[in-house]
Amino acid sequence: MSEQVIIIGAGCAGYTAAIYTARANLSPLLITGSQIGGQLTTTTEVENFPGFPDGIMGPDLMFLMQQQAEKFGTRFAYEDVKSVIRDEATGLFTVKTSGQNYEARSIIVATGASARYLGIPGEEGLSHGLTACATCDGAFYRDVPVCVVGGGDSACEEAAFLTRFASRVYLIHRRDTLRASKIMAERTLANEKIFPVWNSTIAAYKTDDKGELEAVMLKNLVTGEETELAVKCVFMAIGHTPNTSFLGDLVDRDQSGYIVREPGLMTTKTPGLFAAGDVADPHYRQAISSAGMGCAAAIEAERYLLGV
Ligand code: NAP
Repeated sequence: MSEQVIIIGAGCAGYTAAIYTARANLSPLLITGSQIGGQLTTTTEVENFPGFPDGIMGPDLMFLMQQQAEKFGTRFAYEDVKSVIRDEATGLFTVKTSGQNYEARSIIVATGASARYLGIPGEEGLSHGLTACATCDGAFYRDVPVCVVGGGDSACEEAAFLTRFASRVYLIHRRDTLRASKIMAERTLANEKIFPVWNSTIAAYKTDDKGELEAVMLKNLVTGEETELAVKCVFMAIGHTPNTSFLGDLVDRDQSGYIVREPGLMTTKTPGLFAAGDVADPHYRQAISSAGMGCAAAIEAERYLLGV
């Protein structure tokens, strides 16, 4: 039997869509993917989610959302989606995972976005010493120097977190001003353990004879000068790429890869397929705006199923 709605992705947008569709008696099936809880599971304290005046840890917030979705009857499949296709004649979707096929009348895509890397030689071979998650890996680098690449809120947050462990945290940014919000930028620049390296990027990684990172070659983008900086780990924080590869041509994408929606709506070019959260949001990319999009997608899916 077909599902009424399948939600793909277990972040703020997916869980909120699940809460709303479950409370609308649509008995949603949420296919989680491998990063259960989404990007907030890799952050520390969230200070700007309304309702938590003292802040809340990202993983705790996601656990609460999951519990709330479950309480109203959401079912979970802990699998990765490989592809989604739509039968033009019936309008039904087939969602293929590595284990099985599911059929559904509507789909909410809430698969978020994955961390970007610089794409320079040597990245693939660096199993230790290169990561995009300070929360996951920061504690491995006690009393040694590390660096963060990027100048946005994520880079500032990662750098501040890493000061708990590392001897120094270099913040390597390609310009000479931070993109981060004013409060984050001010806190970062006031932190005695964070050392900004302006107008610079990593040109190459240098490893020791065990293959472990020992330094990066920095290139100054203004002068062209190259210098060596001793660090044991590089933490990437240069943004994310939306996760849409499993959708084929069911959606249009903008030049950065975000799913194109109809203006002001969560609908995509495929009837019955809705998109919410970071996968379809080049503008805000906040936990609260993702949750709001998840709510909107759920209401639009409900209306689609009712034919109104
Ligand atoms: P972002 O705001 O897009 O910043 C990405 C940073 O990486 C920018 O400084 C950018 O440089 C740099 N960058 C991009 N491509 C690069 C490349 N190829 N080489 C070197 N540097 C590169 O991404 P984000 O920091 O992940 O933040 C995403 C969204 O989440 C934002 O809306 C942010 O406000 C939000 N966020 C909020 C919080 C919070 O409020 N607690 C925490 C984390 C994230 P340029 O500045 O030169 O473009």
